[in-house]
Amino acid sequence: MGSFRALLSASYGRHYLAQRIEADGSHGGPFIQVSVPGKQHLGAVGDRLILEATSADQARILEIEPRKNLLYRSDAFKSKSIAANVDQILIVLATAPAFSPDLLGRAVIAAELNQIDLHIILNKCDLQEKLTVARDQLAPYKSMGYAVHEVSAKFNPQSLDILHPLLRGKVSVLVGQSGMGKSTLLNAWVPNAAAVTQEYSQKLDSGKHTTTACRYFDLPEWGRDIHCLGAIIDSPGFQEFGLAHVSESQLQHAFREFKSYLGKCRFHNCKHDNEPDCAVQAAVLSGAIASERLTLFKQLVSDSKTADIQIQGISPSRERWSTSLKPPYKR
Ligand code: GDP
Ligand code: ZN
Repeated sequence: MGSFRALLSASYGRHYLAQRIEADGSHGGPFIQVSVPGKQHLGAVGDRLILEATSADQARILEIEPRKNLLYRSDAFKSKSIAANVDQILIVLATAPAFSPDLLGRAVIAAELNQIDLHIILNKCDLQEKLTVARDQLAPYKSMGYAVHEVSAKFNPQSLDILHPLLRGKVSVLVGQSGMGKSTLLNAWVPNAAAVTQEYSQKLDSGKHTTTACRYFDLPEWGRDIHCLGAIIDSPGFQEFGLAHVSESQLQHAFREFKSYLGKCRFHNCKHDNEPDCAVQAAVLSGAIASERLTLFKQLVSDSKTADIQIQGISPSRERWSTSLKPPYKR
């Protein structure tokens, strides 16, 4: 029946839905159910696929086109891809319930490692009494140069409209814990999101698991720039963003504000822990580096070592989230 290009638009486990990509690069038409013949063709939402039709609305993957990046979650035994070929990560936080600073810190590091832009969306800014605490927590990130956008998805739609230029022509992946307002944001930016979600859920594994699926949503016309229509990939809410596969040296370079201190410690292999004449620890003491960031760095180094043990099959692990160009655990 011949092969054709398609966009992987929704995934739940190894159930995928795709849409045909036309010669002009746009995608559309009815959803095609995709079967995955082997583990070598595990895809992620945002992937460009070469499919071979097996019936009118079913196809199998012949090939996954090379990716510019891949966001996935993994533990020592398996990994689950979420999104591929993204331009930016939007991490959604709320003033209440309190967000996890650890998750934020890890998302920021993941973005740096993959050189993907990251924007912090602080939602529920209408809750005035909680706003100061949230702002204080975000202050170090602001001073490191990360964009923080204060919005109220529910009570001030205008605060979302002014983010349209940020989304235009880009593929943005929404990440965050559940309860932060991800769905409210999505519905505001993509007015037909509910209908698309329903269509995905009908076709994907007979209607179940909509909330744990990853899904691609085209933005409306305002989201088009001269090159293409922007999109939002919605990922399931999650609590943990593991970076266990990342090496120590990669890690320290992913901490933006460490850069001017690296190479200035007394020991060239300094762990910035208890070593004397450590430039990074000195910067924490002087207030130039936030102490939570050095704590996070040490935690990530420790996670990375633990994962090495887990990969060797010694102990099971919790689920982890990561981003990388490469498949997990192939160092
Ligand atoms: P999700 O789990 O991240 O998808 O979060 P939802 O979009 O379902 O929102 C979680 C809860 O927060 C819901 O009860 C929303 O009505 C509420 N919520 C969303 N946005 C706002 C906001 O801007 N302000 C306030 N106060 N509540 C909001
Ligand atoms: Zn040091």
